[in-house]
Amino acid sequence: MKNSWKEECGVFGIWNHPEAAKLTYLGLYAMQHRGQESAGIVSLDMQSAGQPVHRIHKSLGLVADAFSESTLAKLTGSVAIGHVRYSTTGDNSVVNAQPLTSELLSGPLAVAHNGNIVNSSILRTALQRDGAIFQATSDTEILLHLLAKHPSNDLVSALTEVLKNLVGAYSFVILAHDRMVALRDPLGFRPLVLGQMKSGSGLCYVVASETCALDLIGAQFVREIEPGEIVEISSEGIKSSRFTDGTEVAGQANGQTNRKSANCVFEHVYFSRPDSVVFGKSVYDSRKKFGEKLAEESGIEADVVIPVPDSGVPAAIGYSQKSGIPFEFGIIRNHYIGRTFIQPAQSIRDVGVKIKLNPQPQILKDKRVVVIDDSLVRGTTSQKIIALIRQAGAKEVHLRIASPPTTGPCYYGVDTPQKSQLIASQNSIEDIRKYIGADSLAYLSEDGMWKALSSGPERFCAACFNGEYPTSLKGVETKKNTDQKDKSQAKQI
Ligand code: AMP
Repeated sequence: MKNSWKEECGVFGIWNHPEAAKLTYLGLYAMQHRGQESAGIVSLDMQSAGQPVHRIHKSLGLVADAFSESTLAKLTGSVAIGHVRYSTTGDNSVVNAQPLTSELLSGPLAVAHNGNIVNSSILRTALQRDGAIFQATSDTEILLHLLAKHPSNDLVSALTEVLKNLVGAYSFVILAHDRMVALRDPLGFRPLVLGQMKSGSGLCYVVASETCALDLIGAQFVREIEPGEIVEISSEGIKSSRFTDGTEVAGQANGQTNRKSANCVFEHVYFSRPDSVVFGKSVYDSRKKFGEKLAEESGIEADVVIPVPDSGVPAAIGYSQKSGIPFEFGIIRNHYIGRTFIQPAQSIRDVGVKIKLNPQPQILKDKRVVVIDDSLVRGTTSQKIIALIRQAGAKEVHLRIASPPTTGPCYYGVDTPQKSQLIASQNSIEDIRKYIGADSLAYLSEDGMWKALSSGPERFCAACFNGEYPTSLKGVETKKNTDQKDKSQAKQI
């Protein structure tokens, strides 16, 4: 089995708009940061020869490259869903591009998924034993098979039962022949919001991973889809139901039986766009507060505060305002290059840093510099950046990380690498400091992160920082093989 757990994605859906596919395209454009490997849109044309039809276009690559005027023109209908996907390794062929589509007894069904189903290997094996033939390696296909087997023709009743089998993170947008459904897992790992706008004399409903997608198309934010909620939109209007009363969440929780919420804190640290409101909080605000706390916790005498652009910018502003040390763009980023992190091989990653970031000697020369980044994962990027800042003449370089040390992999849909590749899982802060070549290194404490968020680990999943995984991890054993391979490249310093 391929590494289907390594997925970061964005989902979108729109109901009742004459330009549904074009608005989906724009929504995906706004959420390009959530996935750069493939993009797809499925529209629902209910007028077509009296028979509802799904029109599908999926392609590898960025949204702008995946669609053209002519491909969008073929996606007729007033309803559409879309998906952007990124997975670092394994199968990046178009069969894994989403939305996944299938013809069920009840009609066509398309599914767009953000998150990762932790027990997917167990469910997949059981389904295969039962005769299911899988087309793709992604965990999302499991939902299609479970629904295909379910005797009910009513999508929501089938989902209500079928979803009880899934453990992990999932925000789904599903398109049937006559309705669109949006739902979130019982712990609400990944975001999903509901918006609306006027469409002719009626209302158009929109669902999206992030509010920045609503902003772009001019839709009003209505509310979050609640964890454990199914929102069903059809010609009869909008209906909400729940597929869990919370009891089976306790069953999943593997020792943490009272857990009711596991919003991913990394959405606020790195993953979401800063102009989005995620889990009811402005991401920009959270990042700025992380920076303020960081200045309180590990302030240092310096001449200038600079961000690693773009991910460190709001935290650096917070750090600068709290410490009174001036903020400058000491490194300029070339915006026409993807995130270095998505480069497929280590050798290319390193080159990527140099292509992407250019330090400015007129700001850095002879200065004591505080550099702020949102997170430190493998340490490779920081090492390169610090070397570049020194080459530009900095006298001292102090790295401040606006999140706690990343010590554990994510099994819920963020591409945090295996433990063996996480520098903080194996090394002390002093060892990391030496490795990256900084004069000093400090991370935001976990407590500081919670204070900045005015919240705590009872609400957020911070497993990548504290190792407290909110669900059972049964079914992730298949990762052991990959872990073995990783050991050859383990970052023991
Ligand atoms: P490194 O320590 O070299 O692995 O890279 C850390 C940098 O990667 C930080 O600047 C983050 O902004 C970025 N980063 C952290 N997590 C991720 C992720 N899941 N996907 C892409 N980039 C990430």
